Amino acid sequence: MNVKFKPNSEASLTIDYRPLELEKEIREFWETDKIQQKLMDFKEKNNSGLLGFVEGPPTLNGIPHVGHARGRVMKDLRYRWKTMQGYYVPFWAGWDCQGLPVELEVERLLGVKNKRELLERVGEERFIQECKKAIMKYHREWVEADRKLGVFMSHERAYWTYYDSYIEREWQYLKHAWDQNLLEEGYYVVAYCPGCQTSLSSAEVGYMDSYQMVEDPSLYFKFKVANSKNEYFLVWTTMPFTLVTDTMLAVHPEAEYVKVKVRGETWIMVKPRVEPVMQELGIEKYEVAETVQGKSLEGTKYDFPFKDLIPKQAELEGLHELVHKVVLEDFVDVATATGVVHQSPGNGEEDFFAAQKRGVPIFAPFDDEVKFTPDAGAFNGLFARDADAKVVEELRKRGLLVEVKTVKHEYPTCWRSHHKLVWLARKEYFLRTDKINSKVLEAVEQVKFFYDSPRNRFLAFLKEGKPWCISRERVWGAPLPIWKCEKCGAKTFVASKQELIAKAIEKPQGNFELHKPWVDRITLRCEKCGGTMHREDFVLDTWHNSGASPYARYSDEEFAKYVPVDFLTEAIDQTRGWANSLLLEHVILTGKAESPYKAFLFQGFVQDAKGRKMSKSLGNVVEANKLLEKYSADICRFYMLRKCSPEGSVNFDFNELGRRPYQVLSTLHHLSRFLLQNAEFDGFNPKKATLEKAKREKQLKKADYWLLSKLQEAIENCTSKLETCEFNFALAVLEDYVIEVISRLYVPMVRKELWTDDPETLSRRLAVYATLFHVLKTVTLLFNPVTPYLSEALYQRVYKKLDPTLASSVNFESWPKPDKKTRSKTLEEEFEALFKCVSLAYAARQNAKLKRRWPLNKMVVVAPKDICEALHTVEDLLLELSNVKTAEYVQEAPDVSQEGWISAVEGNLQVLLDAHRDEGLLGEGLMRDLARRIQALRKELGYVPTDVLEAVHVGDLEKENIALLQPYLEAMAELVRAKKVQLHTDRKEASAEWHETQLDEKKVSIAIIK
Ligand SMILES: [Zn+2]
Ligand SMILES: [Zn+2]
Repeated sequence: MNVKFKPNSEASLTIDYRPLELEKEIREFWETDKIQQKLMDFKEKNNSGLLGFVEGPPTLNGIPHVGHARGRVMKDLRYRWKTMQGYYVPFWAGWDCQGLPVELEVERLLGVKNKRELLERVGEERFIQECKKAIMKYHREWVEADRKLGVFMSHERAYWTYYDSYIEREWQYLKHAWDQNLLEEGYYVVAYCPGCQTSLSSAEVGYMDSYQMVEDPSLYFKFKVANSKNEYFLVWTTMPFTLVTDTMLAVHPEAEYVKVKVRGETWIMVKPRVEPVMQELGIEKYEVAETVQGKSLEGTKYDFPFKDLIPKQAELEGLHELVHKVVLEDFVDVATATGVVHQSPGNGEEDFFAAQKRGVPIFAPFDDEVKFTPDAGAFNGLFARDADAKVVEELRKRGLLVEVKTVKHEYPTCWRSHHKLVWLARKEYFLRTDKINSKVLEAVEQVKFFYDSPRNRFLAFLKEGKPWCISRERVWGAPLPIWKCEKCGAKTFVASKQELIAKAIEKPQGNFELHKPWVDRITLRCEKCGGTMHREDFVLDTWHNSGASPYARYSDEEFAKYVPVDFLTEAIDQTRGWANSLLLEHVILTGKAESPYKAFLFQGFVQDAKGRKMSKSLGNVVEANKLLEKYSADICRFYMLRKCSPEGSVNFDFNELGRRPYQVLSTLHHLSRFLLQNAEFDGFNPKKATLEKAKREKQLKKADYWLLSKLQEAIENCTSKLETCEFNFALAVLEDYVIEVISRLYVPMVRKELWTDDPETLSRRLAVYATLFHVLKTVTLLFNPVTPYLSEALYQRVYKKLDPTLASSVNFESWPKPDKKTRSKTLEEEFEALFKCVSLAYAARQNAKLKRRWPLNKMVVVAPKDICEALHTVEDLLLELSNVKTAEYVQEAPDVSQEGWISAVEGNLQVLLDAHRDEGLLGEGLMRDLARRIQALRKELGYVPTDVLEAVHVGDLEKENIALLQPYLEAMAELVRAKKVQLHTDRKEASAEWHETQLDEKKVSIAIIK
C-alpha cells in the first residue's frame, strides 16, 4: 500500500482564512519593503503608457465614513488594475482644505455661532491657524483609512488647495476668465444662507439632497388697481416678506384673465384657476363678470400698500414708470395660484431678469445677516423671514388680506447649515459660464459615463448653463485677486504672489501668505488716477479650488502629459460639484470645447442595512477606521464592489460580510493551501514541472484542459466587465470561477489522483500541480485589484514560495490576458453535458434515498446522438462523479417501469440508474460511509491530511456488516490514511480512546492510533 509518509511541511498559510491577522502582516510587509513607493517609481520609468489622474480631493472637515471608503476602493481597483496592465498612473492624493465646510466645522469646534461673532471673538488671524489645525487632524484620519483599506495612493505627492503655490495656479484659471471677459462683478440674485452669511452657487442649491420639507405661510392677498373703486388683483405667495421689495405684477400675455365679482368687489385672476381658488378660499358665491386677455392688462397700475411704511418704495415710482405696474411675462405659471405673480427683483431670479431687462431699479434693502436696512422703513432691523408676520398684519389692517394658512412644501436649505436659503440680489463676482455653455455641452459629449442615468442627470444640470457665482463673503479661502481703486473704481487683476509684492505700495513684512488677513493688508496704487486700491473682499467658492486641480496640482509639463485625465470616479452628488467645476474651468482655461477627463464614473451612496441614508442625526454613520478595526479590508472591498453596480446604492449590512464574501475569499485561500500542501509534498518545482512540459508529455487530461479553457473565459469576461465599470459583474465572474469551476467541479475530478505518493503516477500529479499553479496564480492576480491583501499573501506564501524567482510583490505582475488557443468551446460543451448528467444522477439518487457515496452498477443515458458522443469522451469522469461502474448511451428511452430502476430527466437528457445493490456494492457503500466518519474524526482531532495513522479501529459493528466490509479494508485504509484498519463487534480489543458516532441510526465506535 502506498501512502504519503512524510510529516507536513511548515505551513506558511494558516489552516483557516483569518483575514485581520493576514492583513496586518501584509501591511507591515508593504510598509517595511516600501512596495507602494517602489511600484510607483518603477512604473514611472517602465510603462507601456501614461494614464492621467487627478484626485477628487476630500474636504478635510470630517472623518472618512464607509461611503468614502467605497469610492476610494473603486479608485484603487482601477489603479492596481491599470498598473498591472503596464500603465503609469500618477495616483497621488489631494486635499480640499478651505472654504465654507471647513470654516463651519472650525466655528463648531470653537463654539462660535456666526461670522460676526467669529470676527469679534476670534479674529481672522487666529481663525486661519485654527482652520489649519483642524484640517491636519482630519488628514490623519484619512491617511489612516487609506492605510487600512490598502489604498495605494501616494500621500507623499499630495496636493493641498490652501498652499500659496496651488492658489497661484488656481488664479491662472481666473486670469484666463478675466482676459476673456468671463469674470465680472454684478448685481445678481443668488441663493444666500443667513446662517453661513454667504451666497452659494446655483450648483450648491439642492446639493446633497438639501431640499427639505418646511412650513411656510400660504398667503392670498389683494393689490388694489389704482384709481378703481373696488377692483383688485388677487395674488398668492409663500414668502410674505418679499412684499417689502415688491416692484411689479406679472401676468401671462396669452392667458385669459377674468374679473370675478366677490363680496361686492372685483378680483382679477387667471380664468382656469377661478374654481379651485374659490374652493380653496371657501367662497361659494362669486360670479365671473368679464374675460380679458392677459396682454390687455399690461401697464395697469396698482396701489403698493406700504408706501407709508417704506418711503423708499414711494421714491421708486419716481425712478421708473413701470414700478408698481403690470408687466407681461411668459414664465407666469397659469396652472397654479392665481396667475398673477408679484415681482420682487431683489428676492427672485426671474423677477430680477424681468426688472433688469426693463431697467426697473432693483430694491434689495438687506444687510449681510439678511436683516432689512433702514431703506426698508418700518421693517428696518427685522430678519427677512421674521418679517412675514408683520407683512400679514399690515395687510390685515388695510383690508387686503384674503386668507393666510400654512403649507408644507419642499424648499432648498443650506447643504451645510440647513438654514432656509433666501434669494437675494447682491453684488457678487461671476464666471459667465452661460456664455460658454455650448462649448461645455460639446465637451461633455465626448466623455464616457458608463451609466445612462447619472449621465442624464449631469447633462440636464449642465444645460441650465447659469452664471457661476464664485465669490464668497468668508475668511478661510483662496482670495479673489482683484484690487479696486477707492477713488475711480478701476480694477486690477493680480495673477501671482510675485506680481502682488512687486505692485504693493508697502512691501509685506514677516509672515505673508495668500490668505486673509495678510493679503488684505496689501494696497496698490491705481494706474489711472493714483488712488489707493484695496482688494475686493471675497474669497473663492471652494468648488473653484478643487475644480482648478488639473492645472493647479501639476506643473506645466505634467499638465501637458496627464490632462485630459483618463478616468475619474466620485459620488453622484459631484454632478453638481467637482465634475461640473472641473469641466467649466477647463473650458475657460483652454478656450477649447474639451473636457479635462475622458471618463467619469458616478457612484451611488452607501446606506445603512435598512436602506436609510447615513446621517449624524440617525446615528447610523459607519466610520471607515472603526469599521476596519473589526472587519477585514479585503472582505469589505469585495462586498462593496460585489453587492451592486457602482452607480447603485449599497445597503451596507455587517451581517452579510461574513457570509458570501468570506466564503469566496476563504475558498480561494483553501484552494491555494490545498495546492501548496500537495505540491510541496511531491517536491513540485514550477520552473521544471511546467504546464508546457505536462502538455508535451501528454500528462494533461480533459478535466485540466477544461479548467484552462474556462480560465480564458474568466479572464476575458472579468477584464471586459472592468472596462465597462461593471465591477459587480467582474467579481461575479471571479466568484463563479473559484466557487463553481475550481472548487465544486474541478477539484473533485482530480482529488483522488493526488491522494497517493505512488512514484509511478508522480508525473501525472506534477501535471495537476502545474495546472493548479497556473490557474490559481492567475486567479490571484485577477483578484489583486479587489482584494490586494489576500492576493499578496497568496502570492508570497504560495506562488513565490514554490517559485522564488517571482517578483517582489504581486503588484509587479502583469494583468492576465486570455489565450485564444487554450480556449475550446467544444470541450466546454462536453463538460456541460457531463455536469448536467451527473446532477441528474444525483437527483435520481436523492429521490430513491441512495447516497452519492454508495456505488451503483449501471447508468443508462438517454440523449441525442451528439450529446451521447460528447459524454462518451468523458466517460471516466462520468462514472467517477456519478459513482457507477458502467454506462450505456441510447437515443430511445428503454422501459423504465421495470423494477429497480430510478431516473431523472431534464430537457432532452434522461439518466437511468440501476438501483439494485448486491453484497459487493453494499459493502463498498458501507466502507465509504465509515471512511467519511473517520476522516471527520481525524480533522476533529487535529490531524492534517498528510498525517499517516498507525491504526484505525472500528468497534460496535454488527457481524453481517463486518462480513460486508471485509473485502474493502485495504481500500478503506488508503482512504483514511492509516496503515491498517481493524473491525470489532465491541470496544474491548483496542485500548485506545473510543469515539462514538452514528451510522444510519446505529451506534458505532472509532478509535485512532497515531
Ligand atoms: Zn448655511
Ligand atoms: Zn483710480
